[in-house]
Amino acid sequence: MKNDTIDREVVDVLIAGGSVAGVAAAAALSKLGLNILIIEPGPAHGRRLAGELIHPPGIDGLCELGLLDRDMPLGSEVKGFAIFPSNLGKDEECMVLPYGESEGKQVSGLAIEHTLLKEKILERVQGFAGVRTIIGARVTALEGDGPFTAVVSTADGEERITAKLILGADGPMSQVRKMAGVSHDTTRYSGMMGVEIDDSYLPYHGFGNIFLNPVGVAYAYAIGDGRARIMFEVLRDADAKESIKTHLSFFPEKLRNAVEQNMAENKPLAAANYCIIPETSVKSNFALVGDARGCCHPLTASGITAAVKDALILRDSLVATKRGDQFDFDAALRRFARICGRLHLTRRTLAEELREAFLAQTPAALLLNQCIFSYWRNSAKGREHSMALLSMLDSSIFSLAGQYLLVVTHVFRLLPSWVREKKLMSWGDGVFKLFVKSLEFQQTAITQWLKA
Ligand SMILES: Cc1cc2nc3c(=O)[nH]c(=O)nc-3n(C[C@H](O)[C@H](O)[C@H](O)COP(=O)(O)OP(=O)(O)OC[C@H]3O[C@@H](n4cnc5c(N)ncnc54)[C@H](O)[C@@H]3O)c2cc1C
Repeated sequence: MKNDTIDREVVDVLIAGGSVAGVAAAAALSKLGLNILIIEPGPAHGRRLAGELIHPPGIDGLCELGLLDRDMPLGSEVKGFAIFPSNLGKDEECMVLPYGESEGKQVSGLAIEHTLLKEKILERVQGFAGVRTIIGARVTALEGDGPFTAVVSTADGEERITAKLILGADGPMSQVRKMAGVSHDTTRYSGMMGVEIDDSYLPYHGFGNIFLNPVGVAYAYAIGDGRARIMFEVLRDADAKESIKTHLSFFPEKLRNAVEQNMAENKPLAAANYCIIPETSVKSNFALVGDARGCCHPLTASGITAAVKDALILRDSLVATKRGDQFDFDAALRRFARICGRLHLTRRTLAEELREAFLAQTPAALLLNQCIFSYWRNSAKGREHSMALLSMLDSSIFSLAGQYLLVVTHVFRLLPSWVREKKLMSWGDGVFKLFVKSLEFQQTAITQWLKA
């Protein structure tokens, strides 16, 4: 570290990262009268493909925090998912899964172009009591073994900032997490490429269109101003051109032509899909929120909603553990880590299971894929429960374990078709593996219940 680093500031909360997680946390904690400093490198950080579709609990949270208003002319309403299976038209129809209703009203989320969302909420939070931002700066070191002091690099040099709480909200590849000595497990699944086209080509406007096929998942949804985002997954070691060709072959003709034309004229945006699990989310006066806290495959489009939930849980934990008029940061962070740990386990497990079911070609995965569609086709309650889990309205591992078991019971409905196709042995193999997995789920749920 340079010698010219100056000790300048003492704040209650220093937040590294001014995207969704950092801004949501700042908004949540400002309501508690804390003084907060957000450090954000700014747009020069580079434009990448990132989250845009936000589930109803995420939008409700952003509205509760005062970062969005339901009547803002921003983005495009999302009523749920329209899922196109790879065998569309042969054995399966497109499955439309609405979020459902609450008090007689259609529940909806929003899809907003990522950079626009980030700009709007960062601009909003700057008007909140006790919140300041330094844009064009970054956290470059955490000093000490805990409690940590942050070193911030700005255009004018380095400053050492002391804070009661330091939040790492600097995304999945968090450097601040590393600075705090928090290790993590990383699995890189795939890459993602995305373009923008006119939203009139979407097969189901107002829904997140998800196309499943053996080379990965593709998404298409309106993001406002008459535009739609189209994203394709490119699996590790796969040829990008071939993958995109296969993805396009699963699209309806009008959509395919529009995407082909766009790709001939523009360079797509890109991103990588990871599963990242840090060893801990809390260390001394340091905590992780948002993708820095852990991320999974974007199949369930739940990263932003999870980041907003992290902020709300942190706020509630500070309130729940307050003694008189003093915040007990240690107790609050322990509570935060416990509750977020459960929530992220459910979210990650759901994304993993769906990814396996939709992409893997083993008998168990093929059977699970069919069971999921059979469950959705035959049970209105099942569709409702699935959407509650997907949208993080319900983040209980017990619900996930229960739903998994109900899905798996559909193996018996599917038996006749597997017998007709002379695949009885594969069916038996798949059934065995799915029931073992289901038992593992119940065990995870019970272990978590005992720990709680
Ligand atoms: C291809 C793809 C599609 C996705 N689709 C969806 C979707 O449809 N819906 C959904 O909910 N989620 C989706 N996600 C996930 C979503 O993008 C993330 O969950 C969300 O952006 C996380 O926000 P964050 O604030 O935690 O991190 P980020 O958005 O990554 O922001 C991190 C911030 O930290 C700043 N920063 C970096 N280094 C430093 C430093 N040293 N000091 C200070 N600041 C720093 C960066 O400039 C940035 O502003 C998708 C992700 C991918 C990759």
